[in-house]
Amino acid sequence: MSADVFDLTIIGAGPSGLFATFYAGLRQMKTKVIDALEEPGGQVAVLYPEKYIFDVPGYSKILAKDLVKCLIDQAFQYHAVVVLGERVTTLHKADGVFELGTDKGTKHYSKAILIAAGVGAFSPNRLEAKGAVDYEGRGVYYFVKDKSIFRDKNLLIVGGGDSAVDWALNIKDIAKKITLVHRRDVFRAHEGSVDELMKSNVDIRLFYEVKSVTGDGNKVTQAVVFDNRTKVETALDVDAVLVNIGFRADLGPIKDWGLQIDGREIRVNGKMETNIPGVYVAGDIAGPLDGVKLNLIATGYAQAALAVNVAKAYVDPNSKIFPGHSSEMKK
Ligand SMILES: Cc1cc2nc3c(=O)[nH]c(=O)nc-3n(C[C@H](O)[C@H](O)[C@H](O)COP(=O)(O)OP(=O)(O)OC[C@H]3O[C@@H](n4cnc5c(N)ncnc54)[C@H](O)[C@@H]3O)c2cc1C
Repeated sequence: MSADVFDLTIIGAGPSGLFATFYAGLRQMKTKVIDALEEPGGQVAVLYPEKYIFDVPGYSKILAKDLVKCLIDQAFQYHAVVVLGERVTTLHKADGVFELGTDKGTKHYSKAILIAAGVGAFSPNRLEAKGAVDYEGRGVYYFVKDKSIFRDKNLLIVGGGDSAVDWALNIKDIAKKITLVHRRDVFRAHEGSVDELMKSNVDIRLFYEVKSVTGDGNKVTQAVVFDNRTKVETALDVDAVLVNIGFRADLGPIKDWGLQIDGREIRVNGKMETNIPGVYVAGDIAGPLDGVKLNLIATGYAQAALAVNVAKAYVDPNSKIFPGHSSEMKK
Protein backbone atom coordinates (compact mmCIF):
# COMPACT_ATOMS: atom_id res chain seq x y z
CA MET A 1 0.00 0.00 0.00
CA SER A 2 1.52 3.32 -1.04
CA ALA A 3 -0.67 5.52 1.17
CA ASP A 4 0.68 6.84 4.44
CA VAL A 5 -0.36 4.50 7.27
CA PHE A 6 -0.70 6.03 10.73
CA ASP A 7 -0.42 4.13 14.02
CA LEU A 8 -3.53 5.77 15.43
CA THR A 9 -6.24 7.83 13.78
CA ILE A 10 -8.60 9.66 16.10
CA ILE A 11 -12.08 10.51 14.88
CA GLY A 12 -13.20 13.67 16.69
CA ALA A 13 -11.21 16.62 18.02
CA GLY A 14 -13.33 17.38 21.06
CA PRO A 15 -11.73 17.32 24.53
CA SER A 16 -11.45 13.50 24.50
CA GLY A 17 -9.93 13.39 21.01
CA LEU A 18 -7.51 16.23 21.76
CA PHE A 19 -6.29 14.65 24.98
CA ALA A 20 -5.96 11.33 23.12
CA THR A 21 -3.89 13.13 20.45
CA PHE A 22 -1.50 14.34 23.15
CA TYR A 23 -1.25 10.91 24.76
CA ALA A 24 -0.62 9.16 21.46
CA GLY A 25 2.22 11.64 20.82
CA LEU A 26 3.65 10.97 24.25
CA ARG A 27 3.61 7.25 23.35
CA GLN A 28 5.45 8.11 20.11
CA MET A 29 2.60 6.94 17.92
CA LYS A 30 2.26 8.37 14.43
CA THR A 31 -1.06 10.11 14.95
CA LYS A 32 -3.77 11.75 12.91
CA VAL A 33 -6.93 13.43 14.16
CA ILE A 34 -9.92 14.14 11.93
CA ASP A 35 -12.91 16.37 12.70
CA ALA A 36 -15.97 17.29 10.69
CA LEU A 37 -15.73 20.87 11.93
CA GLU A 38 -13.33 23.54 10.74
CA GLU A 39 -12.06 24.05 14.29
CA PRO A 40 -11.09 21.68 17.11
CA GLY A 41 -12.84 21.66 20.49
CA GLY A 42 -16.08 19.72 19.97
CA GLN A 43 -19.06 20.71 22.11
CA VAL A 44 -16.90 22.98 24.27
CA ALA A 45 -15.91 25.16 21.30
CA VAL A 46 -19.22 25.02 19.49
CA LEU A 47 -21.92 25.04 22.16
CA TYR A 48 -20.54 26.98 25.13
CA PRO A 49 -17.23 28.77 24.39
CA GLU A 50 -18.02 31.66 26.76
CA LYS A 51 -19.15 29.59 29.75
CA TYR A 52 -16.96 28.82 32.73
CA ILE A 53 -16.25 25.17 33.51
CA PHE A 54 -15.67 24.33 37.16
CA ASP A 55 -14.98 20.59 37.13
CA VAL A 56 -11.91 20.17 34.95
CA PRO A 57 -9.01 18.78 36.99
CA GLY A 58 -6.37 21.38 37.77
CA TYR A 59 -8.54 24.47 37.23
CA SER A 60 -10.82 25.91 39.90
CA LYS A 61 -12.61 27.49 36.93
CA ILE A 62 -11.73 27.95 33.30
CA LEU A 63 -13.45 29.65 30.37
CA ALA A 64 -14.46 26.96 27.86
CA LYS A 65 -12.63 28.61 24.95
CA ASP A 66 -9.47 28.92 27.06
CA LEU A 67 -9.65 25.21 27.86
CA VAL A 68 -9.82 24.47 24.13
CA LYS A 69 -6.69 26.60 23.56
CA CYS A 70 -4.82 24.70 26.31
CA LEU A 71 -5.97 21.34 24.91
CA ILE A 72 -4.80 22.30 21.42
CA ASP A 73 -1.38 23.46 22.71
CA GLN A 74 -0.94 20.21 24.61
CA ALA A 75 -2.31 17.98 21.83
CA PHE A 76 -0.12 19.14 18.96
CA GLN A 77 3.29 19.38 20.65
CA TYR A 78 4.21 16.02 19.04
CA HIS A 79 3.16 17.22 15.58
CA ALA A 80 0.13 15.03 15.01
CA VAL A 81 -1.50 15.53 11.62
CA VAL A 82 -4.84 17.32 11.92
CA VAL A 83 -7.54 17.14 9.26
CA LEU A 84 -10.45 19.55 9.74
CA GLY A 85 -13.68 19.91 7.77
CA GLU A 86 -13.87 16.20 6.90
CA ARG A 87 -16.49 13.89 8.24
CA VAL A 88 -15.52 10.22 8.44
CA THR A 89 -18.24 8.22 6.74
CA THR A 90 -16.80 4.72 6.26
CA LEU A 91 -14.54 2.31 8.15
CA HIS A 92 -13.18 -0.91 6.64
CA LYS A 93 -10.28 -3.21 7.46
CA ALA A 94 -8.12 -4.96 4.89
CA ASP A 95 -4.75 -6.68 5.39
CA GLY A 96 -4.59 -5.51 9.00
CA VAL A 97 -4.98 -1.81 8.12
CA PHE A 98 -8.10 0.30 8.58
CA GLU A 99 -9.29 2.49 5.74
CA LEU A 100 -11.40 5.51 6.64
CA GLY A 101 -13.40 7.28 3.94
CA THR A 102 -14.73 10.83 4.31
CA ASP A 103 -17.44 13.03 2.88
CA LYS A 104 -14.69 14.89 0.97
CA GLY A 105 -13.79 11.71 -0.93
CA THR A 106 -10.43 11.32 0.88
CA LYS A 107 -9.06 8.08 2.37
CA HIS A 108 -7.05 7.72 5.58
CA TYR A 109 -5.13 4.60 6.63
CA SER A 110 -4.33 3.51 10.15
CA LYS A 111 -3.31 0.49 12.21
CA ALA A 112 -5.70 1.43 15.02
CA ILE A 113 -8.68 3.76 15.35
CA LEU A 114 -9.98 5.76 18.29
CA ILE A 115 -13.53 6.99 17.96
CA ALA A 116 -14.00 10.13 20.10
CA ALA A 117 -17.02 11.37 18.17
CA GLY A 118 -19.01 12.69 21.14
CA VAL A 119 -22.64 13.29 20.26
CA GLY A 120 -21.85 13.05 16.55
CA ALA A 121 -20.41 15.15 13.77
CA PHE A 122 -21.23 18.83 14.08
CA SER A 123 -22.33 20.86 11.10
CA PRO A 124 -23.62 24.44 11.02
CA ASN A 125 -27.34 25.06 10.62
CA ARG A 126 -27.78 26.43 7.10
CA LEU A 127 -29.56 29.71 6.34
CA GLU A 128 -32.93 28.90 4.83
CA ALA A 129 -33.12 32.01 2.66
CA LYS A 130 -33.50 32.09 -1.10
CA GLY A 131 -30.11 32.24 -2.81
CA ALA A 132 -28.08 31.31 0.31
CA VAL A 133 -27.03 27.91 -1.07
CA ASP A 134 -26.02 29.40 -4.44
CA TYR A 135 -23.60 31.85 -2.82
CA GLU A 136 -22.14 29.56 -0.13
CA GLY A 137 -18.39 30.20 -0.08
CA ARG A 138 -18.83 33.17 -2.45
CA GLY A 139 -20.19 35.65 0.07
CA VAL A 140 -22.25 33.40 2.35
CA TYR A 141 -20.06 31.97 5.11
CA TYR A 142 -20.60 29.73 8.13
CA PHE A 143 -17.03 29.91 9.49
CA VAL A 144 -14.41 32.64 9.52
CA LYS A 145 -10.96 31.33 8.62
CA ASP A 146 -9.51 34.75 7.90
CA LYS A 147 -11.38 37.83 9.08
CA SER A 148 -9.40 40.09 6.72
CA ILE A 149 -11.74 39.03 3.89
CA PHE A 150 -14.28 41.38 5.52
CA ARG A 151 -11.96 44.39 5.50
CA ASP A 152 -13.79 47.49 4.18
CA LYS A 153 -16.84 45.35 3.33
CA ASN A 154 -20.50 45.66 4.18
CA LEU A 155 -21.15 42.57 6.27
CA LEU A 156 -24.45 41.09 7.41
CA ILE A 157 -24.17 38.80 10.45
CA VAL A 158 -27.08 36.49 11.26
CA GLY A 159 -27.60 35.13 14.79
CA GLY A 160 -27.80 35.99 18.47
CA GLY A 161 -25.46 33.51 20.15
CA ASP A 162 -21.84 33.79 21.24
CA SER A 163 -20.43 33.24 17.75
CA ALA A 164 -22.54 35.94 16.09
CA VAL A 165 -21.89 38.51 18.82
CA ASP A 166 -18.17 37.69 19.15
CA TRP A 167 -17.61 37.95 15.40
CA ALA A 168 -19.50 41.25 15.22
CA LEU A 169 -17.24 42.67 17.95
CA ASN A 170 -14.15 41.15 16.39
CA ILE A 171 -14.74 42.41 12.86
CA LYS A 172 -16.44 45.77 13.56
CA ASP A 173 -13.22 47.77 13.40
CA ILE A 174 -12.10 46.45 10.03
CA ALA A 175 -15.42 46.15 8.19
CA LYS A 176 -16.95 49.17 6.47
CA LYS A 177 -20.28 48.43 8.11
CA ILE A 178 -21.78 45.53 10.04
CA THR A 179 -25.49 44.85 10.30
CA LEU A 180 -26.54 42.11 12.72
CA VAL A 181 -29.99 40.55 12.43
CA HIS A 182 -31.47 38.37 15.15
CA ARG A 183 -34.93 36.84 15.05
CA ARG A 184 -35.67 37.56 18.72
CA ASP A 185 -34.91 40.35 21.20
CA VAL A 186 -33.04 38.09 23.61
CA PHE A 187 -29.42 37.15 22.93
CA ARG A 188 -28.00 33.76 23.95
CA ALA A 189 -24.52 35.28 24.06
CA HIS A 190 -22.47 36.22 27.11
CA GLU A 191 -24.01 39.26 28.85
CA GLY A 192 -20.80 41.30 28.83
CA SER A 193 -20.39 40.78 25.08
CA VAL A 194 -24.01 41.77 24.43
CA ASP A 195 -23.49 45.00 26.44
CA GLU A 196 -20.41 45.77 24.36
CA LEU A 197 -22.32 45.05 21.14
CA MET A 198 -25.17 47.37 22.15
CA LYS A 199 -22.68 50.23 22.69
CA SER A 200 -20.83 49.55 19.43
CA ASN A 201 -21.32 50.93 15.91
CA VAL A 202 -22.93 47.64 14.74
CA ASP A 203 -26.39 48.20 13.22
CA ILE A 204 -28.51 45.76 15.28
CA ARG A 205 -31.90 44.71 13.97
CA LEU A 206 -33.94 42.68 16.41
CA PHE A 207 -36.89 40.56 15.25
CA TYR A 208 -35.31 40.50 11.82
CA GLU A 209 -34.66 37.49 9.57
CA VAL A 210 -33.13 37.03 6.13
CA LYS A 211 -35.51 36.47 3.23
CA SER A 212 -33.09 36.23 0.33
CA VAL A 213 -29.51 36.68 -0.76
CA THR A 214 -28.75 37.89 -4.26
CA GLY A 215 -25.64 38.65 -6.24
CA ASP A 216 -24.09 39.17 -9.63
CA GLY A 217 -23.52 35.45 -10.23
CA ASN A 218 -20.03 35.54 -8.71
CA LYS A 219 -20.48 37.27 -5.41
CA VAL A 220 -23.13 38.53 -3.02
CA THR A 221 -24.36 42.08 -3.56
CA GLN A 222 -27.60 42.30 -1.61
CA ALA A 223 -29.66 40.66 1.15
CA VAL A 224 -33.33 41.24 1.83
CA VAL A 225 -34.21 41.13 5.53
CA PHE A 226 -37.67 41.37 7.05
CA ASP A 227 -39.21 42.28 10.39
CA ASN A 228 -40.87 39.01 11.52
CA ARG A 229 -43.59 40.96 13.39
CA THR A 230 -44.68 43.32 10.60
CA LYS A 231 -43.25 41.41 7.56
CA VAL A 232 -41.87 44.72 6.28
CA GLU A 233 -38.84 44.05 4.06
CA THR A 234 -35.60 46.00 3.74
CA ALA A 235 -32.97 45.52 1.04
CA LEU A 236 -29.39 45.86 2.30
CA ASP A 237 -26.34 46.31 0.08
CA VAL A 238 -23.93 43.72 1.44
CA ASP A 239 -20.73 42.08 0.26
CA ALA A 240 -20.91 39.12 2.62
CA VAL A 241 -23.29 37.28 4.94
CA LEU A 242 -21.87 35.49 7.98
CA VAL A 243 -24.34 32.96 9.36
CA ASN A 244 -24.00 31.88 13.02
CA ILE A 245 -27.31 30.19 13.84
CA GLY A 246 -26.10 27.14 15.72
CA PHE A 247 -24.99 23.63 14.97
CA ARG A 248 -26.54 20.20 14.75
CA ALA A 249 -24.86 16.95 15.71
CA ASP A 250 -25.47 13.67 13.94
CA LEU A 251 -23.97 10.23 14.60
CA GLY A 252 -24.80 9.36 10.99
CA PRO A 253 -22.86 6.59 9.27
CA ILE A 254 -21.01 5.42 12.41
CA LYS A 255 -24.04 3.18 12.93
CA ASP A 256 -23.10 1.23 9.80
CA TRP A 257 -19.51 0.39 10.75
CA GLY A 258 -20.30 -2.99 12.35
CA LEU A 259 -19.85 -1.74 15.90
CA GLN A 260 -22.03 -2.80 18.80
CA ILE A 261 -24.19 0.30 19.27
CA ASP A 262 -26.91 1.02 21.76
CA GLY A 263 -28.79 4.27 21.13
CA ARG A 264 -26.07 6.90 20.76
CA GLU A 265 -23.34 4.87 22.47
CA ILE A 266 -20.72 2.45 21.20
CA ARG A 267 -20.29 -0.46 23.59
CA VAL A 268 -16.82 -0.77 25.12
CA ASN A 269 -15.21 -2.94 27.76
CA GLY A 270 -12.99 -1.66 30.57
CA LYS A 271 -10.04 -1.33 28.13
CA MET A 272 -12.12 0.92 25.84
CA GLU A 273 -12.08 -1.87 23.24
CA THR A 274 -15.03 -2.30 20.89
CA ASN A 275 -16.21 -5.51 19.26
CA ILE A 276 -13.80 -4.73 16.35
CA PRO A 277 -10.17 -5.44 17.38
CA GLY A 278 -8.08 -2.30 16.91
CA VAL A 279 -11.04 0.10 17.25
CA TYR A 280 -11.27 1.97 20.56
CA VAL A 281 -13.71 4.53 21.92
CA ALA A 282 -13.49 7.43 24.40
CA GLY A 283 -15.70 10.27 25.64
CA ASP A 284 -19.41 10.92 25.34
CA ILE A 285 -19.85 8.29 22.64
CA ALA A 286 -18.51 5.50 24.87
CA GLY A 287 -21.04 3.20 26.48
CA PRO A 288 -19.22 1.11 29.10
CA LEU A 289 -20.62 -2.42 29.12
CA ASP A 290 -20.41 -2.63 32.86
CA GLY A 291 -19.96 0.71 34.53
CA VAL A 292 -21.32 4.17 35.09
CA LYS A 293 -21.75 6.52 32.16
CA LEU A 294 -20.86 10.14 32.94
CA ASN A 295 -20.74 12.52 29.98
CA LEU A 296 -18.09 14.82 31.42
CA ILE A 297 -14.81 16.18 30.15
CA ALA A 298 -12.90 14.50 33.00
CA THR A 299 -14.37 11.10 32.17
CA GLY A 300 -13.42 11.54 28.51
CA TYR A 301 -9.82 12.38 29.48
CA ALA A 302 -9.49 9.18 31.52
CA GLN A 303 -11.05 7.07 28.79
CA ALA A 304 -8.78 8.68 26.18
CA ALA A 305 -5.68 7.81 28.24
CA LEU A 306 -6.88 4.23 28.67
CA ALA A 307 -7.78 3.80 25.00
CA VAL A 308 -4.51 5.23 23.66
CA ASN A 309 -2.31 3.15 25.94
CA VAL A 310 -4.22 -0.03 25.11
CA ALA A 311 -4.02 0.87 21.41
CA LYS A 312 -0.25 1.37 21.75
CA ALA A 313 0.16 -2.22 22.95
CA TYR A 314 -2.10 -3.41 20.11
CA VAL A 315 -0.07 -1.60 17.43
CA ASP A 316 3.27 -2.54 19.01
CA PRO A 317 2.88 -5.76 21.04
CA ASN A 318 6.35 -5.20 22.56
CA SER A 319 5.06 -2.08 24.33
CA LYS A 320 3.58 -2.07 27.77
CA ILE A 321 0.13 -0.62 28.35
CA PHE A 322 1.41 1.48 31.25
CA PRO A 323 3.09 4.52 29.70
CA GLY A 324 5.39 5.33 32.59
CA HIS A 325 5.24 8.71 34.32
CA SER A 326 5.26 11.69 31.98
CA SER A 327 7.29 13.60 34.60
CA GLU A 328 10.10 11.09 34.12
CA MET A 329 10.01 10.95 30.32
CA LYS A 330 12.35 12.84 28.03
CA LYS A 331 10.60 15.22 25.66
C1 LIG B 1 -24.00 23.44 27.46
C2 LIG B 1 -23.05 22.36 27.94
C3 LIG B 1 -22.31 22.58 29.09
C4 LIG B 1 -21.43 21.59 29.54
N1 LIG B 1 -20.72 21.83 30.69
C5 LIG B 1 -19.83 20.89 31.14
C6 LIG B 1 -19.08 21.08 32.33
O1 LIG B 1 -19.22 22.11 33.01
N2 LIG B 1 -18.20 20.12 32.70
C7 LIG B 1 -18.02 18.96 32.00
O2 LIG B 1 -17.18 18.13 32.38
N3 LIG B 1 -18.74 18.73 30.86
C8 LIG B 1 -19.64 19.65 30.42
N4 LIG B 1 -20.38 19.40 29.30
C9 LIG B 1 -20.19 18.11 28.59
C10 LIG B 1 -18.89 18.10 27.78
O3 LIG B 1 -18.86 19.22 26.89
C11 LIG B 1 -18.80 16.81 26.99
O4 LIG B 1 -18.81 15.73 27.92
C12 LIG B 1 -17.51 16.79 26.16
O5 LIG B 1 -17.51 17.82 25.19
C13 LIG B 1 -17.37 15.44 25.45
O6 LIG B 1 -16.18 15.49 24.72
P1 LIG B 1 -15.95 14.48 23.50
O7 LIG B 1 -14.59 14.82 22.98
O8 LIG B 1 -16.21 13.11 23.95
O9 LIG B 1 -17.07 14.84 22.41
P2 LIG B 1 -17.45 16.20 21.68
O10 LIG B 1 -17.10 17.38 22.49
O11 LIG B 1 -18.88 16.02 21.28
O12 LIG B 1 -16.53 16.20 20.38
C14 LIG B 1 -16.72 15.25 19.38
C15 LIG B 1 -16.13 15.75 18.07
O13 LIG B 1 -16.19 14.69 17.12
C16 LIG B 1 -16.53 15.22 15.85
N5 LIG B 1 -17.11 14.13 15.05
C17 LIG B 1 -18.18 13.37 15.35
N6 LIG B 1 -18.42 12.45 14.39
C18 LIG B 1 -17.46 12.63 13.47
C19 LIG B 1 -17.15 12.00 12.22
N7 LIG B 1 -17.89 10.98 11.76
N8 LIG B 1 -16.12 12.47 11.49
C20 LIG B 1 -15.34 13.51 11.94
N9 LIG B 1 -15.59 14.14 13.12
C21 LIG B 1 -16.62 13.71 13.87
C22 LIG B 1 -17.50 16.33 16.16
O14 LIG B 1 -17.57 17.28 15.09
C23 LIG B 1 -16.90 16.91 17.46
O15 LIG B 1 -16.02 17.98 17.18
C24 LIG B 1 -21.29 20.36 28.83
C25 LIG B 1 -22.02 20.14 27.66
C26 LIG B 1 -22.92 21.13 27.21
C27 LIG B 1 -23.71 20.87 25.95
